[in-house]
Amino acid sequence: MKIKAHKLFRTDDSQVAFKRSPNQSSGTIQPRFLVMHYTAGSSAESSISWLTNPMANASAHLVIGRDGSITQLVAFNRKAWHAGRSQWRGVKGLNSHSIGIELDNPGLLQGSAGNWRTTWGRLVPDNEVLVDSNGSGWHVYTEQQLEVARDVALTLVRHYGLEEIVGHKDIAPTRKNDPGAAFPMTTFQSLVDGRDSDDEEEVFETTTALNIRKGPGTEFDKFDEVSPLPKGTRLSILDSQSVWRRVDVLDMVNNEMDIVGWVHGRYIARI
Ligand SMILES: [Zn+2]
Repeated sequence: MKIKAHKLFRTDDSQVAFKRSPNQSSGTIQPRFLVMHYTAGSSAESSISWLTNPMANASAHLVIGRDGSITQLVAFNRKAWHAGRSQWRGVKGLNSHSIGIELDNPGLLQGSAGNWRTTWGRLVPDNEVLVDSNGSGWHVYTEQQLEVARDVALTLVRHYGLEEIVGHKDIAPTRKNDPGAAFPMTTFQSLVDGRDSDDEEEVFETTTALNIRKGPGTEFDKFDEVSPLPKGTRLSILDSQSVWRRVDVLDMVNNEMDIVGWVHGRYIARI
């Protein structure tokens, strides 16, 4: 995933579905945090429809469906209306300082084993329910949905240098439960920590103009749009295979961000 002009694109350069929500403020923001939500709705489509309806007075930057489909509703440098009255680390009104992602999920369930139901009465089978230590039931997220959400979160953290990933409940604990016990918050929080330690220990730069390739060898194609990387391009190393290094390009090259590929290890040096 990558970001261009505050819109989300796939690695193959195709933009994810964009359906602009009128529920946003004028002016721009510089996001510091990522806030995770669940929709508490019945489908991604119904949530997208509601969050783009002026009556809702609510929105989010992204909605991620249970099949992993992504819809962007607000550009990442615009203020979406997802957090409401909220506070975190001395910052009030998180809408002005954060990106919000809504995950399609009915949220906290009613009932008990054998009869878990959404707030609107739909039966949820026991094998799709996570029961927390208080005995509350939560509809599980799908693997596809979490995988996509993780990719997107990492892309946003890196692009905007986000400081922390939090849940809506963290910033509005008296009002909100989302994203709930079924969401792997610790895993997501570590995306930020991981980035910090990588950057401190392992920033390299190219010592010459250097081709970046799709695999570990000259038999693999170059990424034509960005090859050769200019001398002095900053990289972090993800993997090694003999003299080849799989790298994440930290600088923008020819307007491309978040490039990952292989370079010859002889022509890079630790900064
Ligand atoms: Zn929320």
